[in-house]
Amino acid sequence: MKKLSIVVPCYNEQESVPLFYPAVKKVLATLPVEPEYWFVDDGSKDNTLQEIKKLTAEDNEVHFISFSKNFGKEAAIYAGLQAANGDYVVLMDVDLQDPPSFLPKMYSLLESGQYDAVGCCRIDRKGESKFKSFLSDKFYDVINRISKTEIVSGARDYRMMTRQMVNAVLSMKEYSRFSKGIFSWVGFKTKYLEYHNIERVAGETDWTTRKLFKYALNGIADFSQAPLSLAVWIGMSSFILSIISIIFVIVRKIINPASSIFGWASTISIILLIGGLQLLCIGIIGRYIGKIYLQVKNRPIYIVKEKK
Ligand code: UDP
Ligand code: MG
Repeated sequence: MKKLSIVVPCYNEQESVPLFYPAVKKVLATLPVEPEYWFVDDGSKDNTLQEIKKLTAEDNEVHFISFSKNFGKEAAIYAGLQAANGDYVVLMDVDLQDPPSFLPKMYSLLESGQYDAVGCCRIDRKGESKFKSFLSDKFYDVINRISKTEIVSGARDYRMMTRQMVNAVLSMKEYSRFSKGIFSWVGFKTKYLEYHNIERVAGETDWTTRKLFKYALNGIADFSQAPLSLAVWIGMSSFILSIISIIFVIVRKIINPASSIFGWASTISIILLIGGLQLLCIGIIGRYIGKIYLQVKNRPIYIVKEKK
């Protein structure tokens, strides 16, 4: 019998934990697998850990890792994948937005041997604000245009992977972890199941538009160097433009020597424009240097306070 690890990142999910566990357990009972749960408490400030501990007391298939503070979902995923021992590993959100009813299908697709991973993607965003959906769509457009790593639009982190693929994901030890990119970068054959968006059972999402925006920019910087080339292109174009305008000014001076007082306002505008572009480019380079800085410091991705 194959062992299936269920990795569940949880942050302030005291209401969802007790609903999630029986729902998944019920579905897994129909499968010929030996389950192993890994709840990762990402430094929750509510009673999430106590709720998880209740489950570990009930059932010795349930394990947990508790972080010393909130390290973010990506860190929680990494910790859970490191702890998981299963032949197959599935990542699930605790808010039941990842329907457990998909587990048998995912399992049988992996068992068929045709795929190394089965992911899920939402084909709509019912219940989410129009503005957020619009920004997400644009994000996928942009990142897929400028990154060689394909990021599937609407793909959730909900996915079941073989041990081989999990090991590949774990071999990527980067500090700044953008899972959607990492799962795609390691390769392997992935099948995507589609479904309509489901709203969370309890609690509230922690993802504000501002956080999502930051997440998107990080994803782009982690999986594309296009912004750096953009800086080069901006620099090149303004250099060429300035050469043309110098020639223009000289020629005008020769043809019409009285014209030199012209263009004070336009000169200032151009200085401001170029100054702005320079700051933009320095900013872009700064983002990448920041990433290098964090990586070079070699800080741990998460710190465990308690584990069982
Ligand atoms: N989560 C986490 N750490 C965080 C934020 C979220 O472990 O800092 C977990 C959260 O408990 C949930 C999952 O990540 O199980 C997805 O979070 P959420 O439902 O807020 O995001 P969404 O479904 O809107 O993408
Ligand atoms: Mg959710």
